Amino acid sequence: MILMALLVTASLSIWPVIRAPVEPALSPLIVNDVSQLNPIPVSAIITPTTTAEIADAVRRHAGPISIGGARHSMGGQIATEGALHIDMRRFNRILEFSPATKTITIQAGATWRQIQERIDPANLSVTIMQSYANFTVGGSLSVNGHGRYVGVGPLMRSVKSLKVVLADGSIVEASPIEQTEIFNGVIGGYGGLGVITEATLQLTDNVRVKRHTKIMPITGYRQYFFDHIRGQTSAVFHSGNIFPVDYAVVRAVTFSRTDDPVTVEDRLIPADQTYRLNRLAFWIESEWPFGKLIQRRLVDPIYFDGEPVTWRNYEASRDVAELEPASRTTSTYLLQEYFVPVERFDDFVPQMRNVLRRSNVNVVNISIRHATQDPGSLLAWARTEVFAFVIYYKQRTDGAAQKQVGVWTRDLIEAALSVGGSYYLPYQLHATEEQLRRAYPRAAEFFGLKQRLDPTNKFSEPAARQVLPPGCGECSPVKRSPSRLSPSPGRISKGFTRHCWMLFKKSSSSEGKGLVKETRSPELG
Ligand SMILES: Cc1cc2nc3c(=O)[nH]c(=O)nc-3n(C[C@H](O)[C@H](O)[C@H](O)COP(=O)(O)OP(=O)(O)OC[C@H]3O[C@@H](n4cnc5c(N)ncnc54)[C@H](O)[C@@H]3O)c2cc1C
Repeated sequence: MILMALLVTASLSIWPVIRAPVEPALSPLIVNDVSQLNPIPVSAIITPTTTAEIADAVRRHAGPISIGGARHSMGGQIATEGALHIDMRRFNRILEFSPATKTITIQAGATWRQIQERIDPANLSVTIMQSYANFTVGGSLSVNGHGRYVGVGPLMRSVKSLKVVLADGSIVEASPIEQTEIFNGVIGGYGGLGVITEATLQLTDNVRVKRHTKIMPITGYRQYFFDHIRGQTSAVFHSGNIFPVDYAVVRAVTFSRTDDPVTVEDRLIPADQTYRLNRLAFWIESEWPFGKLIQRRLVDPIYFDGEPVTWRNYEASRDVAELEPASRTTSTYLLQEYFVPVERFDDFVPQMRNVLRRSNVNVVNISIRHATQDPGSLLAWARTEVFAFVIYYKQRTDGAAQKQVGVWTRDLIEAALSVGGSYYLPYQLHATEEQLRRAYPRAAEFFGLKQRLDPTNKFSEPAARQVLPPGCGECSPVKRSPSRLSPSPGRISKGFTRHCWMLFKKSSSSEGKGLVKETRSPELG
């Protein structure tokens, strides 16, 4: 009887943690992203299904336009206050698939998962995508994402061509050899130059992969990666998981090609799983006094037990639902990412550790990835061959917590910049203007191109919010979004940007040439 009562009590207390996530009800004209920290009112939302609808809407609409994909950026990048919002999620048809040339052409609202379902029967695989399959191709191209692949780098490397609707409603086709300036600006351009409508991607073979892992001190990781992973053509996926809270030990996880038979029969991870155990594990790790120890000593060894053999597509079809908490009302899990030249790995790690420990950051995990140099995007995050540090952490949602996160985020950005690195733009917007310009030294070229393609600044906020033109640190907040973020002078914040863009336009010379000079980072030349 007592046991029964205890069981019932335990079940009742963990139920709020493991129940299915509930999205808060929003008014139909509020657009929010997955973090739920950025509710932004727009004036209208359209859900086009044809390119003509998009071109027509862009041509006719004089005011601001914002673009949303799967809404997994986390800093309000998808919406602009008062804008016409183009929700791309129904613009998702697969237009052409050629197993012979291993290429696929899709509408930009299609997700990786949709592509996988189509190409898996032909035993083909997406060449480069993120770790999860829920993102739209348009949203992924706009951040120039990367995954856990070995030796491939940013998504741009797998794009054969794309089509984009520009501010005047014209449709342009761009590729590495045609309209290259637009190609280099649109990829990684956060929707600031136009709406990506179609993309043709290079596919690769779906192969069987075997997982093997190795635990090592973090001081040995870089050499291990260079000796055993970097040049290995058989290595398909690789990441290094750093254990909090001492950040001194890494579990290197590699999936290599194999001829062994699969041990997991599914070709893709079955959709619509509940992921209750994941929610429980993340909760214990982030809330219990010894949660991180339990994760490291108990959960992690169970999770990485054995050497399963799966299909590449299986491993690439993970669902972000496995990370989604039951509620994001009082606390939320967020991502940040820092890029560091491979040779500066050992210089960055102690700095990162100091910042995270000093600020008592509730880190759930840090995953090390690798990327080759970006082939030419104007807002490149991999200006050289880099290691990426993907930090998954938990924070409260109140203003004080946000402010505190802002402080340590800027410290981490500073640490990355100090070793010639950079940071990723789809996450929360805590960087200073100066940090933005040092991390993205070709931003002025991007803005010069934008001024030519979008002179009335229709696609204003998402891009401008990412990379502000000179002087914006001093801008006064002309309009406040209803976000819980509170602007502070010299910081990036929504509402500064339209005003800043006007300043930028006034201060720029023809075609942005003067600006390139003005804004080149002295630190990075
Ligand atoms: C759990 C999680 C895991 C992640 N893992 C990775 C990872 O492994 N690697 C990685 O690189 N990133 C990762 N990310 C970041 C992710 O790649 C980006 O947030 C990406 O933008 C998500 O795609 P989306 O379709 O949700 O885009 P959205 O968030 O909807 O949009 C992102 C940006 O693209 C613009 N945009 C969207 N569609 C278009 C279009 N058709 N034309 C023009 N502009 C458009 C939007 O205006 C916005 O500025 C992760 C994010 C989360 C939340």
